[in-house]
Amino acid sequence: MKLLKNYINGAWVPALSGKTRNIINPATGEIIALATDSDQKDAQAAIAAAKESFYGQGEWRRMNAQARADILFGIADAIAAKRDEIAQLDTINNGKPLREAEGDIDDAIHCFRYYAGLITKPYGGVYDVNDGFGPMHSYTVQEPVGVCGQITPWNYPFLMAVWKLAPALAAGNSIVFKPASITPLSTVALFEIFADSPLPRGCVNLVLGSGATVGQELAQNKDVDIITFTGSTEVGQSIAHAAVGNLKKVGLELGGKSPNIIFADADFEGAIEWAMIGIFLNQGEVCAAGSRIIIEESLKDKFIKRLVERAQAITIGNGLQNPDMGPLVSKEHMEKVLQYIATGQEEGATLVCGGNRYTKGNCAKGYFVEPTIFTDCTSQMTIVKEEIFGPVVTVQTFQTEEEAIALANDTIYGLAGAVFTTDGARALRVVKEIRAGITWINCYNPTFNEAPWGGYKMSGYGRDLGVQGLEEYQQTKQINIALNPGPIGWYQN
Ligand code: NAD
Repeated sequence: MKLLKNYINGAWVPALSGKTRNIINPATGEIIALATDSDQKDAQAAIAAAKESFYGQGEWRRMNAQARADILFGIADAIAAKRDEIAQLDTINNGKPLREAEGDIDDAIHCFRYYAGLITKPYGGVYDVNDGFGPMHSYTVQEPVGVCGQITPWNYPFLMAVWKLAPALAAGNSIVFKPASITPLSTVALFEIFADSPLPRGCVNLVLGSGATVGQELAQNKDVDIITFTGSTEVGQSIAHAAVGNLKKVGLELGGKSPNIIFADADFEGAIEWAMIGIFLNQGEVCAAGSRIIIEESLKDKFIKRLVERAQAITIGNGLQNPDMGPLVSKEHMEKVLQYIATGQEEGATLVCGGNRYTKGNCAKGYFVEPTIFTDCTSQMTIVKEEIFGPVVTVQTFQTEEEAIALANDTIYGLAGAVFTTDGARALRVVKEIRAGITWINCYNPTFNEAPWGGYKMSGYGRDLGVQGLEEYQQTKQINIALNPGPIGWYQN
C-alpha cells in the first residue's frame, strides 16, 4: 500500500520515527492508504527548511510578483488537469458526495487564480507628509510575514488547504503545512503538483501527523512568524496560548452554531431548500452550517412538516455514487454526533426526523447518520449551544423580530447566520443585528473567493479569502525618504 510521506526541503521523506497511521474510507471502513505519522522533530526539520528558504536563500520572497503569479497560475492549471482525480480522493477520504468534492476543487482552482491575479495589482500607499524634518516622501509596501505554520481540518481537505496556501504563497512566504491527520490524501496530491512546479526548494513543506505533536510544534516554535489555523474553538484557544512565546501573528477560523432565521413571509419552498443546504450540505460538517433554525411561530407547523418530508427523501450512500449525503468523516466523529442526538432526547427536545446511524444497503460498514431534526428546542439545551458538526438541526420559534435577533445572538459563536423574508428592509435590519462575520439573505452557504471569510466572538479572528485573506500573510512597511539628502539644520551649533 502506498505510504504518504512528508515533503520537506524539496524531498519526499518518511517521519523520522518511522511510525505510520492507517487512512480510512468512511463509506466502507476500509484502509485506503498509509500515512507517515510525524512528530515534533519532523515539524522542526520542516520549519528549518522554511526558515532557510525565507531568510537564507530568499528566492521566493525576492521573486517579482509577476513571476510568482506565473507559477501560481501554472499550479492552478495543473490542479485543473487533475480535477477529477483529486475530487475522488476527497470523496474516498472524507466521504462527501463526488459532485460536492468536484465543486471544492473548482473553487480551489479559482482561489489560486484569484491570488495569482491579486498579487500583481497595485498595493500600498503614498503619503503627502509634513516637512518638520525637511521635505519628505513617505510610502508603504506590503511584505511577506516570513515562515508560516498552517493547520487545517478534515471537512474540506483540499479547499481549506488552498484557502491558506494560495494567499500565503502569493505574498511570498515560506510555509509548513499540516492537514488534518485523518484526511491527507488530496493534500499530498497538491504537494505532488508543487513538487513538479518551479516553486523554489523549501518554500513549501508538508508534515503529516497529529495536532498534539506537529500542530502544537508549529504553534509554539519561535522560528514560525505566523500561525493560521482552521478548526475547533478549543484547539484555536490552545494555539493562541502557544503562539504567545514569540508573539507570532495568529489567524483563527473556528467553529460555529449559526442561526437561520425564517420569517413567515419568506418564499416557502426557497427557504426550505436553503435550510436543507444550510444543514445537510457536506453531511452538516460545515463550520458555517445553519444548525439553528429560528422560525416565526405562525409558519412553524407547515415548515417542519415540509422540512421533514424533504429530509426523509434525502439519499444516503457512498459519495462516489453521488447521493445527497455521504458518511461522516470517521467512526469517532459519528459516535460523537450520535451521542449529541441522545443528549437532545434526554434534555427534552422532540426528535421529528432521523436520529439514527444509517446502515441500509451498502452502508452497513460506513459511518452514516440520518438527517436529523429536533423541534421544541430551548437555548439552554446542549444541542442548541454546542457545535455538533453533523446533519443535526434544532428548531426554535419566535413571535417578534426582536425575539428572533435575541435568539440568534444567544451563542458564544459568531461565524455565520441567515435571514429569510420577502421584506427587504427587514432583511437588512436583521442581518445587521446578527453578530457574525458571514451572513446571507434568502440563501445559505454561498462563499466566494473575492469576499473575506471569518468569524466574530469565539468563532475566531482574521480572515481567509478576499483582499483581507492576502493581508493576513503580509505586513506593512513604511519607507520615508528625505528629498533633500543634506543637513536640515536641526541643532543650534
Ligand atoms: P480540530 O480543531 O480537532 O482539528 C483541526 C486541526 O488542528 C487538525 O489538523 C488537527 O490535527 C489540528 N490540531 C488538533 N489539536 C491541535 C493542537 N493542540 N495544536 C495544534 N493543532 C492541533 O478540528 P476538526 O475536528 O478537524 O474540524 C472541525 C472543526 O473545524 C469544527 O469546529 C469546525 O467548525 C471548524 N472549521 C472552521 C472553519 C472556518 O472557516 N471557520 C472551516 C472548517 C472547519
